[in-house]
Amino acid sequence: MNQPPEDAQARRSIAPVVCYPVETLPKPDLSLYASARATARKTAEVIVPPRDAATFSAPAGSFFRITSVEGPQVGDLNLWNAADLSERFYSGKTRALHGTHLTTGERMWSSFPGMRPMATIVADTLDWYGIDGFGGSVHDVIGTRCDPYTHNLLSGGQYHHCCHSNLTRALADHLGGTPAEAEPHVHDVLNVFMCTGFTRDTGQYFMKASPVRPGDYLEFFAEIDLLGALSACPGGDCSAEHSSDTAACHPLLVEVFTPEQSALQGWTPPAPNGYDRSHGA
Ligand SMILES: [Zn+2]
Repeated sequence: MNQPPEDAQARRSIAPVVCYPVETLPKPDLSLYASARATARKTAEVIVPPRDAATFSAPAGSFFRITSVEGPQVGDLNLWNAADLSERFYSGKTRALHGTHLTTGERMWSSFPGMRPMATIVADTLDWYGIDGFGGSVHDVIGTRCDPYTHNLLSGGQYHHCCHSNLTRALADHLGGTPAEAEPHVHDVLNVFMCTGFTRDTGQYFMKASPVRPGDYLEFFAEIDLLGALSACPGGDCSAEHSSDTAACHPLLVEVFTPEQSALQGWTPPAPNGYDRSHGA
């Protein structure tokens, strides 16, 4: 360990600057979404079995809701542009823009070069939780997804029901292809209902029992035509461990609601990002 310089304390005491002030980000019209939602009817429903995943479609202008049913359960969510799977949820940039955990009014942004809102959170029954004394909060974009590769490194063995594998199987079924074809499309998730943070002393990623209870939900407005996949994590409420069959696991409910067409008059899906992609060449 190196000796601190004489002005170490002065350097540490410099105040931080927010990397990406969001005041100039295009703002969602939440009141328009709310009035459209009031006209919406349920048009689809998918039950995600425990330790497994399922896909769903949410057309642009529809709403989709993820609900805890039966017992506390965490879900790992992937989103793609339904017409082009190369445009997918970008958890890292979403984190840079909105912070470590998402709630109402915040958006799931897509990968480059599209980089536009894919979905906007319009309701979150866990918004009361805030940030607890450990620095934990819900619906994070800091974790990646539990996966069999990390599990193999840390514990050995072959576990096939990590969220990564669940999402891979679900997407393969949807595409009518093999897991090897589907796997490259699976990406870092929004951890729905998961309660996580970084330990203050070592900066390590932590999880704790989710505060979610049956009936709690997170609801989104689909900004573009979406293909979604949701895994009911083998960690259950993630109070103890994941990547095993020991935790109590429960299903998750995904519902899609379609508003009356006239309710979204004046609204159009966001265009792909305006950068010209010449990169100065
Ligand atoms: Zn998981």
